[in-house]
Amino acid sequence: LIAFLIIPSYLSVIVAAQLQPSPAGGLPGDLFALNVASKLRFDCNSTARASSDFGGIVAAAPEAVLRPATPADIAELVRFSASSPSPFPVAPRGQGHSARGQSLAPGGVVVDMRALAAGRRAGSQNHHCRVNVSTGGTALYVDAGGEQLWGDVLRATLEHGLAPRVWTDYLRITVGGTLSNAGIGGQAFRHGPQIANVLELDVVTGRGDIVTCSRDKDSDLFLAVLGGLGQFGVITRARIGLEPALKRTRWVRLAYSDVVKFTRDQELLISTRSSEAAGFDYVEGQVALNRTLTEGPKSTLFFSGADIGRLAGLAAESASGVVYFIEGAIYYDESTAASVEQKLEAVLEQLTFEEGFVFAKDVSYVQFLDRVRQEERVLRSAGVWDVPHPWLNLFVPRSRVLDFDAGVFKGVFAGVIPVGVILMYPMNRDRWDNRMTAVSGGDDDDDVFYAVGLLRSAVAAGDVERLERENEAVLDFCDRAGIGCKQYLPHYTSQDGWRRHFGAKWSRVAELKAKYDPHGILSPGQRLFSLPG
Ligand code: FAD
Repeated sequence: LIAFLIIPSYLSVIVAAQLQPSPAGGLPGDLFALNVASKLRFDCNSTARASSDFGGIVAAAPEAVLRPATPADIAELVRFSASSPSPFPVAPRGQGHSARGQSLAPGGVVVDMRALAAGRRAGSQNHHCRVNVSTGGTALYVDAGGEQLWGDVLRATLEHGLAPRVWTDYLRITVGGTLSNAGIGGQAFRHGPQIANVLELDVVTGRGDIVTCSRDKDSDLFLAVLGGLGQFGVITRARIGLEPALKRTRWVRLAYSDVVKFTRDQELLISTRSSEAAGFDYVEGQVALNRTLTEGPKSTLFFSGADIGRLAGLAAESASGVVYFIEGAIYYDESTAASVEQKLEAVLEQLTFEEGFVFAKDVSYVQFLDRVRQEERVLRSAGVWDVPHPWLNLFVPRSRVLDFDAGVFKGVFAGVIPVGVILMYPMNRDRWDNRMTAVSGGDDDDDVFYAVGLLRSAVAAGDVERLERENEAVLDFCDRAGIGCKQYLPHYTSQDGWRRHFGAKWSRVAELKAKYDPHGILSPGQRLFSLPG
């Protein structure tokens, strides 16, 4: 140490480089001369943790993991790669909750975004120091680090009686991870996806520049990054609009055995998009296939054993055995508590669910938004959380949703008892900003499209292969029937697939990639552009 201290500072970098183990694989040796060198991890524990994801289907190790303390650390690494004769891939990783290796960086460096939160938290009084709420002025917003979990954003904003407007169903995923996709949930019919509620971003581009962008400043970068699958830059801060948060939630599920009534009612509910006074604040839906209700779990966190018994009876009576649920919620607080029941009755009166099949719960706002966390705990204790998840998410145009139901739920899935959840709910296309990279569903003739999530788990030997075959069959069916589905959280193995996915947007996507990540460094796990090197 003494010898090190008396070395002139201009030499210390060189000596430090010589003292370090040589980096594994193909990373350039002069990486060790960087300021961030001490934040790079090459050990197997670190690289193994960044080698797989929630999907558990794809695995690939990076050469190293960066644990940044500041956005400038990320910029330094990216700039180094971009200016190197052989650029290496860099992938920001939030929670690694994608399903097809999107957060992996084989042969490159994974940036552990969560380190930004950990670094600041240590020794800080403020638990949420990269979540700052502004209540002054006319705009209410939160500045959240890209690495922050939505659950932490919720807790921080609630301290001010405020909350973001749109939520994913699960809150243990990061702001940067969901904004790279779109961030959809039951509030999106009214407020659009999460990306439509962002006011400003700090981004580290694929050139290593740190840029603050918005609709008014560097708008091409802003619009590219939102839904940009990590291709144009790393989101290190997002300014997100807020609304006053109410304290409680009336949470209901309504059962249907007729898909026509189910979809008609869902579409009626989302047509109240402009009026918060009428209708539900949240609209989603689920599909219980075949013998799920008769042979599946005897109770769930929402349904009691008696409820399941009644629903199983409904499934048995229906010709297809399929039962659909509309899931709705109304937020309220002390001042509106007296009228919430009346408001619910007024909504239910317009709907055509099976008589008597209304299931209601009263929970706090946080319990409602964080509901999947409880399911996670149950699944973890049953050992079925950390299993492969060959998920397939599709946007289906409203005009073809009944064909999809017939061909998929009553065709491809006939006889299948799914483990996991099938989601199905509509959204209004006019709540999406088509200038953003994110691809919505529907086309010019369809102002509504459905999000269908086939969120199935592989719990037994051979399940992954079977579920993948069924996913392929679903996609084949949609192709053959000309349904024009778009994948959400998309995954393609060829650039042709991506071209079809983006359609008219593809040339713009390629142009913006060349502008902001000319060496194709960022998020190679998306497989949109060929790997550098
Ligand atoms: P990661 O998996 O770590 O990364 C995803 C992609 O984004 C990668 O390509 C990565 O390189 C890139 N990325 C990560 N951080 C950044 C950043 N800061 N800047 C730029 N790029 C970045 N999605 C919904 O929309 N609605 C839902 O209701 C919903 N529910 C879910 C429930 C569960 C249980 C799970 C596992 C996922 C759910 N998702 C949902 C999907 C989820 O939004 C995406 O998988 C999201 O990418 C996960 O965030 P993450 O932090 O784990 O991202």
